[in-house]
Amino acid sequence: MGVRGLLRRILALAAISSCAFCGSAISEETRESKLFRLLKLDGHQVRWQPPASGPRVVTYTLLTEASDFRGARNCASMTSLEGLAAASQLGMPAIRSEVGAAFAMWEAVANIRFQEVPETAHADIYIGAQREPDGWAFADVFYDAAAPGPTKAISRSLVCLNPTKRWKVGFDGDLKTYDIRYTVAHEIGHAIGLDHPQGLDQMMGYRYEERFRSLQPGDVSGAVALYGPSRAQPPTETAASIQPAPADAPQPKAFAGSAGTRGLNTRSR
Ligand SMILES: [Zn+2]
Repeated sequence: MGVRGLLRRILALAAISSCAFCGSAISEETRESKLFRLLKLDGHQVRWQPPASGPRVVTYTLLTEASDFRGARNCASMTSLEGLAAASQLGMPAIRSEVGAAFAMWEAVANIRFQEVPETAHADIYIGAQREPDGWAFADVFYDAAAPGPTKAISRSLVCLNPTKRWKVGFDGDLKTYDIRYTVAHEIGHAIGLDHPQGLDQMMGYRYEERFRSLQPGDVSGAVALYGPSRAQPPTETAASIQPAPADAPQPKAFAGSAGTRGLNTRSR
């Protein structure tokens, strides 16, 4: 994104009126508990900024080719998940389905919607495999430092998985082979503004476990603190709100700020 594009984005964000959830999100900060913790980047809480009415529709894409993301700490260089899928004897349809199920968990409890878009379109969240394998899974969250208000608008998030690790669908008690859905759901939590709580009994807990495969009360409370509770009404303007980027559109390169959050960590003794 050139300077003009960045400026346009900042102006567009500045035009969004503050919403009722800003206040509640801040007040939650003062009583962070073992249940959930809001992500703070450079001291700022962050979230996908909601429109004036209705849920925020956050788009995501599964990378199909190598892409670099300047400024990212953990997912700076990513590529397609195809190699990861093949190495773990999982098909890409299964990976895509599990990623979709992970997004659906959050969508079910908070006033936020997720829409998969082709890689040719601009996406809010990019998901791929690390080109420089490290750890298991990570997320990077970028935000607009110039956005008004104490809670800053997330401008992009990245989720990357280590393709040299073994992955699976479902639980089998083997804590060295991670479940795709659980892991991606955890990273999505970071991608929408949540950090690790103090306790481990939540999906946002820092350690990979196989005791539950759905959001726990603290995860739900954190998402609701950021976006409000889920509304029964599905978005009606989803199709119109997603505009494919022109074929010659440059890869966005400028960000007002960024920070990485560590992903799921292996059990440490
Ligand atoms: Zn994490």
